Amino acid sequence: MTGCATNPATGEKQLSLVGTQQEIAMGRQASQEVAASIGLYDDPGLQAYVARVGDSLAARSERPELPWTFGVVDDPAVNAFALPGGFIYVTRGILAHLDSEAELAAVLGHEIGHVTARHSVERISKAQLANVGLGVGSILSSDIARFGDLANAGLGLLFLKYSRDDERQADDLGLRYAIRGGYDPRPMTDVFTLLERVSQLQQASRVPDWLASHPSPENRRALIAAKIDSTRSSFEGTRVDRDRHLREIDGVVFGLNPREGFFRANVFYHPDLRFQLEFPRGWKTANQKQQVLAVSPRQDAIVGLALAKGGSAEAAARTFASQQGLRTSAFRRGDLNGLSAASAEFEARTQQGTLRGAVVFVEDEGRVYQLLGYTAGQLWGGYQREIGAAIASFDRLTDQRILAIQPQRLEIVKLPSAMTVEQFAARYPADLSRDMLAVINQVRPGDRLEAGTLMKTVAGEDVSGRSPQ
Ligand SMILES: [Zn+2]
Repeated sequence: MTGCATNPATGEKQLSLVGTQQEIAMGRQASQEVAASIGLYDDPGLQAYVARVGDSLAARSERPELPWTFGVVDDPAVNAFALPGGFIYVTRGILAHLDSEAELAAVLGHEIGHVTARHSVERISKAQLANVGLGVGSILSSDIARFGDLANAGLGLLFLKYSRDDERQADDLGLRYAIRGGYDPRPMTDVFTLLERVSQLQQASRVPDWLASHPSPENRRALIAAKIDSTRSSFEGTRVDRDRHLREIDGVVFGLNPREGFFRANVFYHPDLRFQLEFPRGWKTANQKQQVLAVSPRQDAIVGLALAKGGSAEAAARTFASQQGLRTSAFRRGDLNGLSAASAEFEARTQQGTLRGAVVFVEDEGRVYQLLGYTAGQLWGGYQREIGAAIASFDRLTDQRILAIQPQRLEIVKLPSAMTVEQFAARYPADLSRDMLAVINQVRPGDRLEAGTLMKTVAGEDVSGRSPQ
């Protein structure tokens, strides 16, 4: 199972758990999970832009033969990540925050470095070994196992935590690839500054994933600045390509896209699918591509909604009931707020014990939804009412204002005259805090901006509360 291989990027001998073909297969599978669970951003031009920059760097790396794939995921968070085998993703959120093609090259070069130095595959194989050790391979049906995974942050594998040494090595390799690609490497330091500012802005909310998995940007900025200095190059003729980057990201969706569902307090609205659902108060909610769910404050109960397979509520109920390890009560046909539905309670045996819950399949506009809630068997009595009320709250969305909601989009403007940051903010009013405006433009209060400078602003209304991007 283990072997010793030479690290292609560093030349060092290292213990290798996984061969190249297996590494590629792991990455390919994980990338399909990314596409299914986060979703790719639907903009071929933007996808092509990121692929062009990424491919040009990867071709100059030590592992040019990998099936390098670069993509933009439809996620407002400021994040980038590398999967084994050369599958690399940036979020639309980080693209909106970056200020030049050279900054994008810095981010992609760093992620390429995690792949060429085989960090991703080593981390992922250790995580998989750990999972096997915990006996995660339960007999649970895929439906329920999927919910269980999400309760444990099932995407954790994708957002690997690297060691500080790994990070430094990826920074060094990223610097190498950016220089080989003809980019000015100095904007790398601006990326670290940006990440620090994003994290400060979000202190009250959550830490961006990229920061959680890529620690201490201030420290790394100093290190990389010293490295850039020590190359003693003039960097004349190297590329920054600020305007080109800004033209590429003009119009990108900014923040949460409310069309794909959003929360107001504990009520979830989905304008595209025209339904709403009220989750228990105080539960932690998450809106994912394939499901929306809430976890109890003690993390011992879960309730959520997903699309079900099957042409009718009854067909979906039959499929559900036929799953191994599951015992359901007889399904009751009825209606849920005027919609045709089938409901039951169930019990599932798992390696962790017995789970009890309730499930309802409901038909709406040709779709069948599965509403599912469960907890440990002995806790069911305490949660039954709350879970039942959440499931029963599923209803058609008819509020015209919510049905018409549109996302905010980045808008690139050209300054007609020189002005300060404050004058810029006043001249182009946007539904966005001044702090956020300064961060996405990578400017500070009081900075003077030249006439003709391209700047970012945001068009549209922030209807869903500030998103965690
Ligand atoms: Zn990293």
